[in-house]
Amino acid sequence: MIGLSAGEPDFVTPEPILQAAIQAIRDGFTHYTENLGMLELREEISRKFARDNGLSYDVAQIICSNGAKQSVALAIFALARPGDEVLIPAPYWVSYPEMARLAGAEPVAVETTVRTNYRLDAEALERAITDRTRILILCSPSNPTGSVYTRPEMEELAAVLRRHEQVFIISDEIYEYILFDAEHVSIASLPGMKERTITVNGFSKGYAMTGWRLGYLAAELPIVKATSKVQSQLTSAPSSIYLFPDVSAFLGRQAPSGRAIRSSNDLCFYLLEEHDVALVPGEAFGDPSGVRISYAASMADLEEALRRVRRGLEALQP
Ligand code: PMP
Repeated sequence: MIGLSAGEPDFVTPEPILQAAIQAIRDGFTHYTENLGMLELREEISRKFARDNGLSYDVAQIICSNGAKQSVALAIFALARPGDEVLIPAPYWVSYPEMARLAGAEPVAVETTVRTNYRLDAEALERAITDRTRILILCSPSNPTGSVYTRPEMEELAAVLRRHEQVFIISDEIYEYILFDAEHVSIASLPGMKERTITVNGFSKGYAMTGWRLGYLAAELPIVKATSKVQSQLTSAPSSIYLFPDVSAFLGRQAPSGRAIRSSNDLCFYLLEEHDVALVPGEAFGDPSGVRISYAASMADLEEALRRVRRGLEALQP
């Protein structure tokens, strides 16, 4: 079986990021962060927008969340009201329509075909917009089709959108760096679009950090303020470092007792039964390469627990 189902990069989180996170944990950097996300992180993101996307966003216009997915949801919750229509070019990423429904809005699929390489063209967009259209969700490079909008194609869409001022654009750019022989164009960088675009991105795909749950959006200040209110009631703040370490290097090993460690589930049972420490298998969170370590415990308990985890992991044989 060759797994080509999940949008999961086939490389591991780059070493400098791992080291920085380990250091951060050791330094006790495991607490709530600011509602918008750490200032230093938002400064870096602001620089990234300027460098890679030709976009100038102030740190106050950036909010970090627990994944780009949450950023998309925040934008929808902040903008969509019951009765609003959310235009979603189809084929679409499964979560978009459901998020619109959760907000009480009506998802409207706009069909695209292989003839246009599954890209929404200007006429189809024009036809789909009604008085009730509040949001258009664009995803380029696209999940699931892999289509990338060229600059002229983006400009054609922007020309239509300029005629319909009530429509906001959520531009999901999470696959920006998973790109072959093509230019990535952020629609917000086109004239007249920045004021109405919520640019969403994150670290999951480009940096193989799907389990870390960290993403962000950038938009005009009133929109960011609205999303920050939603976030404060949902998750308070984004992850600082999540404690969701990747344990895949230990899978496929064997305990001295003969027990095979095939999955994060097996690993958690082994640590529970043979080393007296209880973790939650990543399977429960949809990521079997990790284990969830809750750090809402006393420092003494955490230190002892990690000693046990270490003892348990070191005892495993290839
Ligand atoms: N947008 C799209 C189009 C995706 O495919 C995914 C992940 N499958 C996400 C957003 C979510 O990314 P994150 O892990 O940052 O929440």
